[in-house]
Amino acid sequence: MTPPVPAADAPADRRRELRADCSACAGLCCVLPAFAASADFAIDKPAGRACVHLTPDAHCGIHADLRQRGFPGCTVFDCFGAGQRLVQVAAVERPVADPGVAAAFPVLRQLHELLWYLTEAAGLPLPAPLRAEVADLTGRTEALAAGGPAALAAVDAAAVRAGAGELLGRVSAAARPGGRDRRDADLVGAVLRGADLRRHGLRGAYLIGADLRGADLRGADLLGADLRGADLRGADLTGALFLTRPQVAAARGDGATRLPAALERPAHWGAAAPVRTRRPRRPGGRGGAAGR
Ligand code: SF4
Repeated sequence: MTPPVPAADAPADRRRELRADCSACAGLCCVLPAFAASADFAIDKPAGRACVHLTPDAHCGIHADLRQRGFPGCTVFDCFGAGQRLVQVAAVERPVADPGVAAAFPVLRQLHELLWYLTEAAGLPLPAPLRAEVADLTGRTEALAAGGPAALAAVDAAAVRAGAGELLGRVSAAARPGGRDRRDADLVGAVLRGADLRRHGLRGAYLIGADLRGADLRGADLLGADLRGADLRGADLTGALFLTRPQVAAARGDGATRLPAALERPAHWGAAAPVRTRRPRRPGGRGGAAGR
């Protein structure tokens, strides 16, 4: 068996770039998709029409109050940086009105999401042949993502994702030795409070509304897991694999929820709980008022 290769020489984590920068975009995600009035969006909106809350300078007029105003779906959506990249590449006066941009946007978003996973995979301690496969697919995906709107629109994104899914499955298996496989498990509303789910393969699992309070999800594979409304308060997701911002933002958490280093805590979860440090013991005492 080929020995695992340390991740010390892994490429710099590109995931910092794979995030939406609305200040460099043109409001593509507020114009191009259609919305149906639901718990996620307070209004109906046809594809190609600007949201009523989009300002003339392509900013959200209710950004600070999206959840309170009935638009939690907008806090969950993430283009993985595809929007600002496409606006720069297309170089047209009104990107939101350009049919080529409209066709290319969902494709580039999928490619950027895939690059998020592949970048994470490249940093894992994997056997050398597997790492080489990850590097190869990363290069090919980067090449596709670098195309202009017409080239992007011609990409068969579903086929690219299918091939990547197979590779990421093998990456997951190599990175979670001994982990139980619960792929695509129906765990909707499951009570998993305090459960030991370390290194579990929960890829594609339905965890909608699951009670995961205090659960130990360290090293679990959560690629594509549906975490909408899942209660992650106090859960530990340190080192969880293939977790994304949209998944986290769709779940419920609190200051005690621990996330992988690449992910920020959603604002609606509240501040992180302070890290507890042990007080040095006083010589001859037990510390605190009881020991005085
Ligand atoms: S509510 Fe704001 S973020 Fe959501 S679609 Fe409208 S303008 Fe965009």
